[in-house]
Amino acid sequence: MDSEKAFMLRLISSAVSIAKRAGEEIRRINSYERPGEIVVKGHQDYQTEADRESQRLIVASLAKRFPKCTIVGEEDLIEDKQADARLVVESFDEDVLKKSLPNGYGYEKVTEEDITIWVDPLDGTFEYVKGHVTHATVLIGISINGSAVAGIIHQPFYDVDTNIDTNGRTMWGLVGLGCFGVKPDKLYEKKFIITTTASHSNKDVEEAIDAMKPDEVLKVGGAGYKVLLVLEGRAHSYVFASSGCKKWDTAAPEAILKASGGHFTDVFGNPIEYNHRSDNNYHNYLGIVASANESIHSKIIKNIPANVAKQLAEVEKQNLRPKC
Ligand code: AMP
Ligand code: MG
Ligand code: MG
Repeated sequence: MDSEKAFMLRLISSAVSIAKRAGEEIRRINSYERPGEIVVKGHQDYQTEADRESQRLIVASLAKRFPKCTIVGEEDLIEDKQADARLVVESFDEDVLKKSLPNGYGYEKVTEEDITIWVDPLDGTFEYVKGHVTHATVLIGISINGSAVAGIIHQPFYDVDTNIDTNGRTMWGLVGLGCFGVKPDKLYEKKFIITTTASHSNKDVEEAIDAMKPDEVLKVGGAGYKVLLVLEGRAHSYVFASSGCKKWDTAAPEAILKASGGHFTDVFGNPIEYNHRSDNNYHNYLGIVASANESIHSKIIKNIPANVAKQLAEVEKQNLRPKC
């Protein structure tokens, strides 16, 4: 490994390697105990052994290699030092290290202290438990100064039904450098396709989708998988007018989509902020709109019903109000 390589490339390269190993661990656990012991965290919100082991592996590996980075993981786990040590991944992804940082983004000056890493060890757990394993992804997002700039989406069960690639597939991106591991297809011109939640819908979510007048709605699990559909050109946009998604769901997908030329904002069209919070409240209260390009994105934002946007803003105000 070239120790002279810029810190940002070493970080992404390490995270790609770690995400792939997490995917192996998820497949291993899945092969003998799907879903295993389930912890119910909320309505249709589950944690399985695969979520726990994947997070242990990712957090232990990143913390060992990059001890000064802030790491925010989805799962609240009881410390298991022995398991953590056994799971540490030390390798780097060689393909990432072959790249050079783009000029003009200031990445060469970035240090560990500037970085927050957002870990969703298994996104789409509800669908995974139901047996829709292709909806599951491992998400590692990297933010600098509150903005998601790099991310990894690893899909452990890519084309599992046809057995084309049972090792899964990995996509990564860095804003300014590009997006790798996924081939965008041409968007349908005759059909307007939206993707949204399969298991966390509500009145606002439905009203916002209806307002777009889509020809087709793909209801699938996971923020990672839905952004994959947009990256592949299978959907024009991912629309979720709800406060249910958290920062670890969106950091990696947002960075990869932006790196590929797409757009990712809240329902008002404003950037999502990725700052560490002492109260651990990481809801994306103002919802999500993620689109393949600028013109689709602005059309969607324009058509979000005003009452739905207002309702989300109200929920944010109630929940982020300073405590007295
Ligand atoms: P979905 O599109 O429903 O798969 O949601 C994408 C991500 O956001 C998943 O990690 C979900 O667990 C999370 N999410 C969305 N809405 C909710 C909710 N109402 N409660 C808990 N988690 C949610
Ligand atoms: Mg998730
Ligand atoms: Mg998860």
